[in-house]
Amino acid sequence: MAGLTLKNVFKRYENSGKKKNRQQNDYAVKDLNLVCEQGEFVAFLGPSGCGKTTTLRMIAGLEDITKGEIYIGDRLVNHLHPKDRNIGLAFEDYAMYPPLDVYGNVAFNLRAKGVDKGEIDRRVREIAPLMQIDDILDKMPVKLSGGQKQRVNIARAIIREPELLLMDEPLSHLDGKARQSMRVEIKRLINKIKCTTVYVTHDQLEAMSLADKIAIINFGVLQQFGTPAEVYDDPVNEFVASFIGEPPMNILETTIIKEDGTFFFTFANSNLKIAVPGRYYGVVSDGFRCKMGVRPMDVLVGGDGSKGTPEEIATFENLGDERRIGIRVGDMLLMLITEDEKRYRSGDIIKLEVREEKTHLFDIETGNRIRELA
Ligand code: ATP
Repeated sequence: MAGLTLKNVFKRYENSGKKKNRQQNDYAVKDLNLVCEQGEFVAFLGPSGCGKTTTLRMIAGLEDITKGEIYIGDRLVNHLHPKDRNIGLAFEDYAMYPPLDVYGNVAFNLRAKGVDKGEIDRRVREIAPLMQIDDILDKMPVKLSGGQKQRVNIARAIIREPELLLMDEPLSHLDGKARQSMRVEIKRLINKIKCTTVYVTHDQLEAMSLADKIAIINFGVLQQFGTPAEVYDDPVNEFVASFIGEPPMNILETTIIKEDGTFFFTFANSNLKIAVPGRYYGVVSDGFRCKMGVRPMDVLVGGDGSKGTPEEIATFENLGDERRIGIRVGDMLLMLITEDEKRYRSGDIIKLEVREEKTHLFDIETGNRIRELA
């Protein structure tokens, strides 16, 4: 049984005011179809304004659905009140009840539902160590750190033993280190409670590290739904390719030429020539224009005796654990990450090698992946 199903879901805000551009003109969510399996952790990932929160709020029942169907388990929930959907909500604002201590905040919803006092106590004491809040149960919200508030927030969501847990940027108020440790805690917790979870984030690292599957959304449209490995290794289009990965995939306009039976990617105002993988020979031709994508870790600095193309370094960044080199290819910048510990400078010449087999092709107009013939 699926944990959550969205069928042809649309959302249009009637009061959306002045529109920013044509793509934002109509629907905040357009024809969204998605199935999250029971117990799966799914991240909704995309840039600000792409429709993640709107979708989550429709699932929660906090926002009307313009068109389509939403099922939690096998129940159609379109017209159910949020409190009847059996969901747990952890949103980015902590919204705790200031006059209640942590225990009171965690217990609040169960008390409101009239759950027996002993049962409430049992559940609070069970969840508190999981969320590492057992030593702060008697503290008032005003005395809590950001991380502690986040933990209480999540404890309140899961204590109801929901069928579906919905989290909207629950770590957004935390700084880098606290964020990372909460990420680890959420992973540990979700592994324990095995509840179907939808997690909204604009942080691809968070999505990649936490989720079983990622739904990548842009302008209200689902671009790709797959495991972290699928969206990283096999992106369906230029948007997904450049959204996942840091630094992002290099995507360069290219004209493919044929020389002595071999196809090469070439680039305007550059000597760089990269062999096109044989698997694309059925779809390219001499003079074919498209975009070539390659991840920075698949571009290498050749060692002694390398047959790579000599190229001048335009930028060099030493980030401690990795070094990033930028090479100008015409008016585009090709980034590479090197493990080489040498301190390069702008103007140094290196031999540039590209793992040709790792290159991707994208349609110059639509941005869609051009795939080899089956
Ligand atoms: P963020 O990461 O910034 O929260 P998001 O991906 O969650 O962004 P949404 O908040 O779902 O995006 O917004 C999707 C679109 O709907 C945006 O264009 C936004 O301006 C619009 N929108 C959201 N809420 C409303 C509303 N109450 N009334 C009108 N338009 C809205």
